[in-house]
Amino acid sequence: MGEYHKKLEQELVEYLDTDYVSLFNNGHMALEILIQSMKLKGEVITTPFTFASTTHAIVRNGLEPIFCDIKKDDYTIDEKKIEELITDKTVAILPVHVYGNVCNVDEIQKIARKYNLRLIYDGAHAFGQKYKGNSIAKFGDATMFSFHATKVFNTIEGGAISYRDGNLGEKLYELKNFGIKSQEIVEEVGLNAKMNEIQAIMGLCNLENIDDEIDKRKHIDLEYRKYLEEVNGINIKKINKDIKSNYSYFPIVINEKEFGATRDEIYELLKNNNIFARKYFYPLTSEYECYRQKYNSNDTPNALYISKRILTLPIYSGLDDSDIERICKLILSMKK
Ligand SMILES: *Cc1c(COP(=O)(O)O)cnc(C)c1O
Repeated sequence: MGEYHKKLEQELVEYLDTDYVSLFNNGHMALEILIQSMKLKGEVITTPFTFASTTHAIVRNGLEPIFCDIKKDDYTIDEKKIEELITDKTVAILPVHVYGNVCNVDEIQKIARKYNLRLIYDGAHAFGQKYKGNSIAKFGDATMFSFHATKVFNTIEGGAISYRDGNLGEKLYELKNFGIKSQEIVEEVGLNAKMNEIQAIMGLCNLENIDDEIDKRKHIDLEYRKYLEEVNGINIKKINKDIKSNYSYFPIVINEKEFGATRDEIYELLKNNNIFARKYFYPLTSEYECYRQKYNSNDTPNALYISKRILTLPIYSGLDDSDIERICKLILSMKK
């Protein structure tokens, strides 16, 4: 946790327009340690339409995930279904800003206040975004960001917690450094999750180019829309004027009855042409071998529907217009 580590933390506080940032070796450890720092016991309301990390971070802290359904239009937690899941064991809500689609932060905040619950956002997809002019990093008690190489801003691997309560900083610092408080005092059962200097330097370099990177992705997003937005059977979320997006992902949802081919058929065709789209997120975390005995995915029907039909198309700043055209033409060649 040296010189460049400190510099990246400061620059991220500015870029993310937040109060504090704590850096980690990856996003998952950031989330797991954040939850540990809150010393919670009981149930956490979250969604199964996410990456393994979100659910695992809850379970690895000895807490029980309670799966809430998502909304069919933006794939984030359905805030109207949260209250019916609250019991006397509920201690926190952990929603995910899926693909950078922003959760209904105002309503979720109200629920968290009303029931005195901790509110943690998985913002792995939402780096640098704004919602109604406010930084995404400022909602809830804290937000996790991932700086994995596949994310829009990367430190090779890495992650961060953005938070508002200054007291949390010391706890996070201690926990990511084995729980060591001072040379002879070890206060907590911590682990080693420090971001190293090479990662921090990578981050400082990439931060210089991040706005340019996001602009290029915006162009790609608009190109894809030109080909695919009006196609019957392909669902693409409309641009939301309240969100300053980072264009991390380009998800499409295939309605096989209207389109005439399934998501899996399109995925295979692209793969056979050396184009690697992802079934992201599929399967739901509630369907993983390690969880499925305990959960029934039919309890979250929208999440189940979307996970079977979603495909995220390639998006990165080096993807040029002719590639996008080729990808879209292949997809459209399956239209019946
Ligand atoms: C990438 C990701 C994570 C984990 O981040 P890592 O840096 O890979 O550990 C957690 N949640 C979501 C939604 C992600 O996409």
